[in-house]
Amino acid sequence: MSQYRTFNAADAVEYAQQFGGVDDPSALVSAEEIGDGNLNLVFKIFDNQGRSRVVVKQALPYVRCVGESWPLTLDRARLEAQTLIEHYKHCPQHTVNVTHYDAELAVMVMEDLSSHRIWRSELVKGAYYPQAGRQVGEYLAQTLFHTSDFFLHPHKKKAEVARFINPEMCEITEDLFFNDPFIEHERNKYPAALESLVVSLRSDDALKIAVAGLKHRFFADAEALLHGDVHSGSIFVADGSLKVIDAEFGYFGPIGFDVGSAIGNLLINYCCLPGLLAPREAAEGRERRLSDVQDICNQFASRFLELAKEKTRDVALAYPGYAESFLRKVWRDTLGYCGTELIRRTVGMSHVADFKQIEDETMRIECIRSCITLGRTLILAADHIADVDALIARIRQAG
Ligand code: ADP
Ligand code: MG
Ligand code: MG
Ligand code: MG
Repeated sequence: MSQYRTFNAADAVEYAQQFGGVDDPSALVSAEEIGDGNLNLVFKIFDNQGRSRVVVKQALPYVRCVGESWPLTLDRARLEAQTLIEHYKHCPQHTVNVTHYDAELAVMVMEDLSSHRIWRSELVKGAYYPQAGRQVGEYLAQTLFHTSDFFLHPHKKKAEVARFINPEMCEITEDLFFNDPFIEHERNKYPAALESLVVSLRSDDALKIAVAGLKHRFFADAEALLHGDVHSGSIFVADGSLKVIDAEFGYFGPIGFDVGSAIGNLLINYCCLPGLLAPREAAEGRERRLSDVQDICNQFASRFLELAKEKTRDVALAYPGYAESFLRKVWRDTLGYCGTELIRRTVGMSHVADFKQIEDETMRIECIRSCITLGRTLILAADHIADVDALIARIRQAG
């Protein structure tokens, strides 16, 4: 049995030679640590021609961006590898291919996606990938349908829920999404100029009750195997291609959480574009973001319904009209979780490049304000926004 040790570059090369699945392992000669995330080590492994060939990712026993004072389970590497492997079975075209993992070393080997770019970085620059929205919708429909009770045998489903118990990573989400931004907490970070807006969240009874409901459903609604962190920084894009990575928050939870995370990060970008680009480009970029959101929602819902019609195994769940009714519940959750994503990214600790790259401080504050306000609106109005067109109308109305 392998014992955990933190890899250096030489260890990563040796590991890739052994488990990288390449035809010519001795050609793998060097590694570069490229992790920009908050949690883990990521090594690109190069061959003797200087080409990157595979990626080795290892979990550290603590939160990388905080340090050893915040320990974190190594089991998340197993959960990430198994979630990605499971999602790959159902949607290979949009899931990174994990070819090997080792639970003791908390390490995995996966395909090298250097030909792609992180979607968030592209969105911040104003680059447009017209197929990306539909591709994300497809990924969500395939992975979430095929791991739900519509498709899985009840015995298999219960065994899968147990295999993907992920208490420590879920606790991070439970704290950072649903608690911190709505109380005074040392982890929160927002501009002083927004103090009164943030204080007003803490004393908004209707908002706090709605957030309690979202947290409760995050605890209790084991609807499907979620990615659990499917923001634009976990999505690689290239011309016509899209691949999801980084699934260490994977667990069985409410489907709307994944859909809401995906569209939430596009709406964060929507709120930030006026601070990132010149006015004409920003206006054009905002229209594109809304059409990305529309594409995600429409593709997700129509594909999920098609799959439900073709492949639902349970006789009661197959009753005509039930899948549509379930998707209405998913839509309400989507709006709510989208709202909590907008708030936790602005008031809470996990800030994103979209805001951080706005140089003008006054502009940055106004972009953050619009994001918090939109988040609050979505959480409060989730029962009254019928569909994605109504959502887009609301967003335009908010200005
Ligand atoms: P973390 O869990 O620490 O956030 P990620 O899985 O998001 O780690 O990876 C961090 C960064 O490493 C990504 O933003 C990306 O730049 C790079 N990376 C991760 N996986 C790959 C891959 N398969 N191919 C190329 N680069 C990758
Ligand atoms: Mg990441
Ligand atoms: Mg806690
Ligand atoms: Mg991660």
